[in-house]
Amino acid sequence: MGRLDGKVALVTGAARGQGAAAVRHFVTEGARVVIADIADDEGKGLADELGEATVYQHLDVTGEDDWAAATARAVSEFGRLDVLVNNAGILHFSELAHTALADYERVIKVNQIGAFLGMRSVVEPMSLTGGGSIVNVSSVEGLAGMPFLVAYTASKFAIRGMTKVAALELGARGIRVNSVHPGMIDTKMISDAVGGAELDLARIGKKVALGRVGRADEIAALVAFLASDESSYCTGGEFVADGGATATHALKL
Ligand code: NAD
Repeated sequence: MGRLDGKVALVTGAARGQGAAAVRHFVTEGARVVIADIADDEGKGLADELGEATVYQHLDVTGEDDWAAATARAVSEFGRLDVLVNNAGILHFSELAHTALADYERVIKVNQIGAFLGMRSVVEPMSLTGGGSIVNVSSVEGLAGMPFLVAYTASKFAIRGMTKVAALELGARGIRVNSVHPGMIDTKMISDAVGGAELDLARIGKKVALGRVGRADEIAALVAFLASDESSYCTGGEFVADGGATATHALKL
C-alpha cells in the first residue's frame, strides 16, 4: 500500500529537477499526478515514461487562465485534487545595485505570484473533497539572505510568509499548507542561471555539515511526507532539508 494511494496531485515545474523527482516519488507511492510546466517536451516525455498515473499539462504559473485550465484538467482526468506542490522557480544572480527592475519582477512573478495563484486556484477543488495539502517550495533563501540573490531571496521569504497566512485561513477547510526549504540541490537551476557554465557543486557542498550538496530525490521524500496523511497535524510549518547549511551562525573560513 502506497502512502499516497487514491490521492491526485498537481506539481508545477515538474518537467525536470526536484519537480520531476517529486512526480516519480508520488507515483511510486500510489498517487496520480498532473505534471505541469512550460517545458512541454520534457514534461510530455516524463508523462509518456510514467504512463497512465500521470498527464502532462502546460502551465505557466504566472497566468491565471493557465491555472484554471490545470486545476480543471486534474479534476477531469482524475476526478479530484488533493495535493498541490508549488515547485516552479527561477534564479537570477545579480548585485542589488545592478539588478534591473525587469529581472527583479520576472523572478517575483514566477516564484512568488506563481505560488499565490496556485494556492488560490486549489482552494475550491480541494474544499469540495474535504481538504488537501499544499506544499510550497521555498529555499534556505527563505530563511536567511544570500548576496547576489535579492529578488530570489525576497520571493522565497514571501513564500514562507504566505504559507502561514494560507495555513491559518484554510485549516478550517481541511487544507494544510507548509513550506519546504531545500539547501543546495544538484539540479540544472544553478548552472542555467549562470548561462550554462559547469559549476563545482562538490566544492560548495563541502561547506555544510553533511559535506555534500543534496539530491532531488531527498527533497521529493520530504515533499511526499507533507503531501501524505502522515503529516496530518503539520500546517504552517517550515521544513528544512539543507545538509545543515542553516545550522550555524559561524562566519565561513
Ligand atoms: P530546475 O530549474 O531544474 O526546475 C525548475 C522547473 O520550473 C523547470 O522545469 C522549469 O521549466 C519550470 N518553470 C520555470 N518557470 C516556470 C513557469 N513560469 N511556469 C511553470 N514552470 C516553470 O530547478 P529545481 O532545482 O528543480 O528547482 C525547483 C524548486 O526548488 C524551485 O522553486 C527552486 O527555487 C527551489 N530550490 C532549488 C534549490 C537548488 O539548489 N536547486 C535550492 C532551494 C530551492
